[in-house]
Amino acid sequence: MTWCHPVEHVFGRVREGVFSSTGFRIRAAQPAAAATQVAHWAERVAASLFFTLFPADCRLCKSPLLRVSRLPVCNNCLQALRPLSGPQCSVCGEAINSPVVLDHPETRCRICQTVTPPFVRAVAYGSYERSLRDLIHLLKFGQVRSAAPVLGRLLRNAIAALQPSLPPGMTAVVPVPLHAHKKSQRGFNQAELIVRAALKQPSPLDGFELCAKILVRVRDTGSQIGLTRHQRRQNLRGAFSVKDAAAVSGRNVLLVDDVYTTGATASECARVLRRAGATRVWVATVARTLKASDFFIAPEEFSQHEIQQESEDDRASLAAHA
Ligand SMILES: [Zn+2]
Ligand SMILES: [Zn+2]
Repeated sequence: MTWCHPVEHVFGRVREGVFSSTGFRIRAAQPAAAATQVAHWAERVAASLFFTLFPADCRLCKSPLLRVSRLPVCNNCLQALRPLSGPQCSVCGEAINSPVVLDHPETRCRICQTVTPPFVRAVAYGSYERSLRDLIHLLKFGQVRSAAPVLGRLLRNAIAALQPSLPPGMTAVVPVPLHAHKKSQRGFNQAELIVRAALKQPSPLDGFELCAKILVRVRDTGSQIGLTRHQRRQNLRGAFSVKDAAAVSGRNVLLVDDVYTTGATASECARVLRRAGATRVWVATVARTLKASDFFIAPEEFSQHEIQQESEDDRASLAAHA
């Protein structure tokens, strides 16, 4: 027994007693000393008291947590964090469901066929839905910073998938910045928090240098709800600025963020970075919004999907600050 984690110890023992009926019976059948039985009884009382005083449910699915952890998320929810699979746009990572293009490695979605983004390629770990989306919300709106290391590991996977296609040498890693007002309101920039975790765990990722101060958001763009794709692009114009052009000039840049929704933010940041002299820009995010069948979807439907997605995020944000 280590008294550094008395609750964890009590938790484990009592859970074993309560929920592992076989184990409990075995122990009960043993000619245990009276002192041991008293100790078990005391542990159970202590744990019951702990659960009564500090009831803990998974913050995503609300089921009772079976262990004490810094991250209040159950194993089922963590195991539900799955990577993207299936054919994707070779530029922006959008899912492509057309059977015609399934085997073509350089397939582009309809959006990227129309306009080539200012970045080389964007990759994401998973789809922005269910557990992954809830976990990101837990960090951003629930202020649960212990979600950052988990999200960091997912981002690291996305970066690792991109790494073979990056040119040799050091790549500058630039988190998408928040406006100073929003950052002070939230207390942190989630993109920076996540990428710091991604680059250092379980060991430092070679070939990347975090440059968190290079890009700044000089204008608070506010909510983009109800804006069309074109209006959003306009809304973001002039929102970002490179503070230290010498730090990006002639360098390859990896832009990182928590979510890739419309691509408008990533595109604007990439545009500004390239104008400041960055050689090429790649994008990696933890999650990405996927459309059901982007290759065939009409632009109006696409826009409608984005609006709905951002509306849901905005509602979560408002609820968090209510
Ligand atoms: Zn759960
Ligand atoms: Zn695309």
